[in-house]
Amino acid sequence: MALARDRCICLRKLDYSETSQILLLFAREHGLLRVIAKGAHRRTKAGASKFDGGIDLLDVGDAVFTFDPGKELNLLTEWGLREGHLELRRSLRAMYLAQYAAELIALLFEEHDAHPALFDRLAQSLPELATPRAEETFLAFELDLLREGGYLPGLSSCGECGRPAGEQESFFSPARGGVVCRNCEGAVPDRMSVDARLLRLMQGMLRLPRDGNGSSIPQRLPRLTRHQTDPINRLLADHIEHTLGRRLRLSKYVLSDADNAPVAPARVELRSATS
Ligand SMILES: [Zn+2]
Repeated sequence: MALARDRCICLRKLDYSETSQILLLFAREHGLLRVIAKGAHRRTKAGASKFDGGIDLLDVGDAVFTFDPGKELNLLTEWGLREGHLELRRSLRAMYLAQYAAELIALLFEEHDAHPALFDRLAQSLPELATPRAEETFLAFELDLLREGGYLPGLSSCGECGRPAGEQESFFSPARGGVVCRNCEGAVPDRMSVDARLLRLMQGMLRLPRDGNGSSIPQRLPRLTRHQTDPINRLLADHIEHTLGRRLRLSKYVLSDADNAPVAPARVELRSATS
């Protein structure tokens, strides 16, 4: 079996036996990839393990692995850590946002379906989540992720009559997959009110020019607070849950006050992105 190499971000991990880990990796050129790292926790006589003592959630590394798309689990043979995100791990808010981003990628994309531009956006966004720009960074990434996956809701015009949205009071309907205007809101049963300013904010973020790996985006983002991003993240979570027919595990941590939030489980279960 030929070996493949790729830059990867660890989206989920599960300790498997005393010494091994099963990982869901987001590989830049290979997409989502499930691997087993045998002996990840085993130390050699010199004190090192071939996987630097184990791979953690959101670690970025250069991986070598067997790649058989027909196999449910490929074998990780090497891992060179490139970025351990120590700053991110010091902030509970940053970790919730980062793990939520990881959950969304795992849910919205198929295995072995490469999205290099989205990989670059995630790699670029993760360190920003540990800064005061966390809220706008996460929201911009979330919108890009939905657009890349084809899950972006209709935000520019009323889904019923086509009238441009954002000029007056608008409503959002997960069942309609987007916004509806005041005249049409009676036609959709599951509508929720959405502030026109927040709607224009999302429209503006989606219009920001992207170049290459999106490196110009952070400088151009407006500064946002949770007062602004919480309702938008709620709306997008409702939209995703309705579209996929699945509950999101981590949205409740992202949408609640960190002080009152239940502690997120350290171990994230592996789950098929397609089931
Ligand atoms: Zn309408």
